[in-house]
Amino acid sequence: MKKDDIFLMPILLVDDSNANTILLKAILNNEGFDLISVASSVEETRAFLDEYKIDLILISTILSKGSGIELCHEINGDLRYEDIPAIMVTADSKIETLRKSFENGAVDYIAKPINSVELIARVQAHLIRKQVLDERKKSAITDVLTSLYNRRYFDTIFDRQYNKSKLENIPLVFFMIDIDNFKKYNDNYGHQAGDDALQQVSHAMKAQLKRNGDYIFRLGGEEFAILLLSDNIDHCQNLSDSLHKGIYDLNIEHKYNEKHGRISVSIGISKVDVSDLITKFDIYNTADEALYHAKESGRNHSEFINIKPDGTKSEKSKDGKFRLMDIFK
Ligand code: GH3
Ligand code: MG
Ligand code: MG
Repeated sequence: MKKDDIFLMPILLVDDSNANTILLKAILNNEGFDLISVASSVEETRAFLDEYKIDLILISTILSKGSGIELCHEINGDLRYEDIPAIMVTADSKIETLRKSFENGAVDYIAKPINSVELIARVQAHLIRKQVLDERKKSAITDVLTSLYNRRYFDTIFDRQYNKSKLENIPLVFFMIDIDNFKKYNDNYGHQAGDDALQQVSHAMKAQLKRNGDYIFRLGGEEFAILLLSDNIDHCQNLSDSLHKGIYDLNIEHKYNEKHGRISVSIGISKVDVSDLITKFDIYNTADEALYHAKESGRNHSEFINIKPDGTKSEKSKDGKFRLMDIFK
């Protein structure tokens, strides 16, 4: 790990006193930390975290509008920000404030008046630790061959998206993707060529995901999944088209893939208005069912099944799309 890297890690200072933030920023800038931002209230902090990536946050325990400790608690409890270490900065040396800070998720505590050597040492230590933890987390959730997210992370995200869909009333969409006749590809072109194709197909699919919050995983073997939240059927149709086109454009020869002549995938899509009546198991199985239809009806295209809140299913979108793309007809 290069220590230089930590100077490029963005830091947020939360304090409503200009004098304090000017001093902290000056000490950190002077040491070489260039990416320092300031928020002066709880609202500004929330808005900032929504928009920007932050690797360390320094929060004053007392804010004129709100409590720094409560803000720390909120950040710590939010799945989007739980990995951001928070250091409390305080003029109050009471042991009770220290106890509360740690109880509410702070990783450290700096007392005013600020000692610049101590401030730098603590900030450096927490940034280095954050790098190590980020690296570890990344390798725990990444598939080695394709660099997509792995099955383990799929389970975590499926849980989160399922709950979010129910809470926010946005349909959950699940693409189950399987490479066509891939056993024949391996048998005829060799395992190494198979691995290369898996990498290329993964890369081409990932390139089609343009929105934050759309996830792609390698579930195992030659099977992949995409999870996203959307009530826009056109977004799903466009994504389906671009996945097939992206893979078609790779033009990986596969003479044994029926009439298609090159590597292709079949996709089963389930879209669901999540309710208490519908389990993750139902959503997974429905995508699998749609995938089965896609395989049975010629491969190299997507089939779609909509699950209604009462659990009943309707096949295909209202306009009957999610069939063969023009280029495959
Ligand atoms: P279908 O169109 O019905 O999906 O047929 P298929 O041949 O793709 O499906 P099947 O499940 O029979 O075979 C999947 C093959 O995928 C088996 C194996 O040869 C290949 N495969 C799975 N994982 C890997 C991998 O990591 N590397 C390589 N090279 N091949 C793999
Ligand atoms: Mg398979
Ligand atoms: Mg297959």
